[in-house]
Amino acid sequence: MKFTREDIIRMVEEEDVEFIRLQFTDIFGTMKNIAITASQLEKALDNKCMFDGSSIEGFVRVEESDMYLHPDLDTFTIFPWRPQQGKVARLICDVYRPDGTPFEGDSRYILKKVIKEAADMGCQFDVGPECEFFLYHLDDNGQPTTITHEKAGYFDLGPVDLGENARRDMVMTLEDVGIGVEASHHEVAPAQHEIDLKYGDALAMADNLMTFKQAVKTIAKRHGLHASFMPKPKQNINGSGMHINMSLSRDGVNIFANPENEKELSKEARYFMGGLLKYMKGMAAITNPLINSYKRLIPGYEAPVYIAWSTQNRTPLIRIPMTKGEGQRIELRSPDPSSNPYLVLAVCLAAGLDGIRNQIEPPESVDSNLYELSEQEKKDIGLERLPENLNEAVRELEKSEFICNVLGDHIVKNYCKAKKAEWEEYTNQVTQWELDQYLYRI
Ligand code: GLN
Ligand code: MG
Ligand code: MG
Ligand code: MG
Repeated sequence: MKFTREDIIRMVEEEDVEFIRLQFTDIFGTMKNIAITASQLEKALDNKCMFDGSSIEGFVRVEESDMYLHPDLDTFTIFPWRPQQGKVARLICDVYRPDGTPFEGDSRYILKKVIKEAADMGCQFDVGPECEFFLYHLDDNGQPTTITHEKAGYFDLGPVDLGENARRDMVMTLEDVGIGVEASHHEVAPAQHEIDLKYGDALAMADNLMTFKQAVKTIAKRHGLHASFMPKPKQNINGSGMHINMSLSRDGVNIFANPENEKELSKEARYFMGGLLKYMKGMAAITNPLINSYKRLIPGYEAPVYIAWSTQNRTPLIRIPMTKGEGQRIELRSPDPSSNPYLVLAVCLAAGLDGIRNQIEPPESVDSNLYELSEQEKKDIGLERLPENLNEAVRELEKSEFICNVLGDHIVKNYCKAKKAEWEEYTNQVTQWELDQYLYRI
């Protein structure tokens, strides 16, 4: 425990905090919040703040709409980007029903449940996300565009890197709110950036990812830019991923490292990967939740397409980076930054733990460039594809008893219903591409 109730009351007083935002995340990964004034702080700390759950998409029906927010004291943070007199702080909350039971539509609760499973096996789940995003110009009305005048590429610096100053401010702001940054750099595509967060336990990291997006958008705006976490804003150039480096530790020791043979993964790491690969198709609707997510998962843009792992190259779904010993980890490359980080980490951990429990051996590694294999070669090694679109992903999710169990009926039902509606609306569109292709010719 970092903070006690008294600590929070004292900090609010001493720091001249005027508003406290009680935050939570809906099932689609959108942050929600209710701002209260400092005078209501004690009520909030007594878990007595309430909201109407029926107004939040995918939460509950009107008949059972009262929901209570239970603040997690350790998440108390003062926003450095708000005024420094009459400051604004936040507390991330768990969502409870009036009868005092956790609400099963709260994705933070789903992650906590799986983390508890790991704890029962003596393990802590540690993750380090790499977040990619684009910085675009705003138009005269302050609306986001996909315009950039930037021509920089991988690891470039100023003056070609026009986002350099914005990125530096973002990193400093993140450090201010206690989010460690390991590295940041320009990415492959023009106006594309990456910020890598320091390794930490999964719950803190899911909270951090939500704060990260908020901070990045806020600071971008200050520089007259729009930060977008859309997975593939432009065709013909790289999209944005959110690679997740992961490992398990027991008593502070990374159990993915193999003390007997540095070159090889431990058996826990192998089984964990076996579980991830086994359940991957059913997880895709969570790791890649948008119609647009699947436009990133195509050959040629450094994004994974096939379900495979490798120590050598970066095209497969799972890469084993060269770092050994304490730094041994596996990198899952499919998630994108539009996903709900609580649910992503919950399904990843659950799949990995199941791999360990049932000693699921991963298939042989595939070390060639997967984009270049012929159909026959892919068939010979039994290479399978990730779902090709959201519709297929939702079907795979519904088919996967294991993933449905992890998420629970409430989330599966509401999530799939919304995603099917999204798919239907999309397929009903007559696009410019179709008009260009067919109107004249047919
Ligand atoms: N942007 C790529 C993706 O979509 C990753 C590029 C990289 O980090 N090497 O996952
Ligand atoms: Mg990276
Ligand atoms: Mg990258
Ligand atoms: Mg990476």
